[in-house]
Amino acid sequence: MKKSLTRDEIVRLDKAHVWHPYTPIDVWEQTDPIVVARAEGSSFYDVDGTRYLDGNSSWYVAGLGHGHPRLLRVLREQAETLAHCALAGIAHEPSSLLAAELVRVAPPGLTRAFYTDDGSTSVEVAVKIALQTWQHLGAPKKTRFVALDGAYHGDTLGASSLGGVELFRRPFASVLFECVRAPFPEPDAYGRAFEAMRDLVRREHDTIAAVVVEPLLQGTAGMRSYDPAYLRELRELTRAHDVLLIVDEVFTGYGRTGKMWACDHAGITPDVLCLGKAFCPLFPMAATLVTDRIYDSFRGSAERALWYGHTFCGNPLGAAIAREVLAIHEEERIAAQAAAKAPRIAAAFARIATIPGVARVRSFGMTGAADLEASATKGATGSSYLGRAGWRVYEEARRRGAYLRPLGDTVYVCPPLVISERDLDDLLQILEESVRAVLA
Ligand code: PMP
Repeated sequence: MKKSLTRDEIVRLDKAHVWHPYTPIDVWEQTDPIVVARAEGSSFYDVDGTRYLDGNSSWYVAGLGHGHPRLLRVLREQAETLAHCALAGIAHEPSSLLAAELVRVAPPGLTRAFYTDDGSTSVEVAVKIALQTWQHLGAPKKTRFVALDGAYHGDTLGASSLGGVELFRRPFASVLFECVRAPFPEPDAYGRAFEAMRDLVRREHDTIAAVVVEPLLQGTAGMRSYDPAYLRELRELTRAHDVLLIVDEVFTGYGRTGKMWACDHAGITPDVLCLGKAFCPLFPMAATLVTDRIYDSFRGSAERALWYGHTFCGNPLGAAIAREVLAIHEEERIAAQAAAKAPRIAAAFARIATIPGVARVRSFGMTGAADLEASATKGATGSSYLGRAGWRVYEEARRRGAYLRPLGDTVYVCPPLVISERDLDDLLQILEESVRAVLA
């Protein structure tokens, strides 16, 4: 492919024709954007040669960094053999090997993989599987879902219905299905939050299909973490009342929290596990794992099948890459590497907490976040997403060579897990200096 456009031409064409995700149009039109040309390791490079440390792993995907040579090799090799083939009535080696390997490394008891395209669809199919499972198991009234305040599970209508961020829900509220919202287990009030969940499930389990959670860490809500004991107790509660537990590890999976799965901190196996993002970092591919109980309930007449599937379901390129990701994780103990680097992030955010104008900080695994004062009272589900304070930090960081996309007034890091200690320290220093510059 010949590169022939100048930087200005790319920007002009983009502004004339591209509709950007999560981006107010007026703001975009006034922006002088980064125009990325290539990426390597923990950085990407503008067409003009400027290097940026990737502060959010390109939306949480590049846990293994950009351009990993092993992943690129597998991509090339697989492309030459079989790039695409429908999975309808056909089996192939990459997808069958991947499913077997996923089942081996996943929390024990998850035995089947259903392939989808991205995090949203891995949740979307989980919702449909839960609904249909209860029909098969003779409990058709179990049709409602419970999710946490501030939850984010994707942008398809089903996944949006589970979401707890008002700003994202509002335009679609009239068509989203009902989702009962349970309080987020704040660190100082986790017991009370669990009591509310327990009362709800005890009272209404006859009509609840599933409780859906991001395990231990809500990313989009501003890197908010909660106690593993809550997840453990939630597992016991849902099991006791025969409610499915759907755990969305799209963000937390693959070492982000310092263990392969956030579920591992609590030692639990959910009924349904949703994977995406770092699962296959070069290609839109995701997976939803389920137990035998769920899978077996779909046996029998043709009506009982899961009449659901995406065109690229189980795509061989994606499957081959996802297999190599698992191999790298095992061989290089990526989650343990992440756990070893996490204290550097915690220390940096402890320093940032002392800056006047910083309301709150938190860190967990390879993530850290700081609320700038404007957001202090609004909470993660309020209008702080529309705040501009974080964007001022973004501009300062950009001048210093880091990409630190904020969540409104909340600034955060979520770097590649393989980032060198030196690059990580640079990234954290850039964040700290940028916060100081904005709040000075
Ligand atoms: N679940 C979680 C926890 C997520 O963080 C996201 C995306 N940020 C999704 C689901 C949706 O994934 P995707 O954008 O790949 O559809």
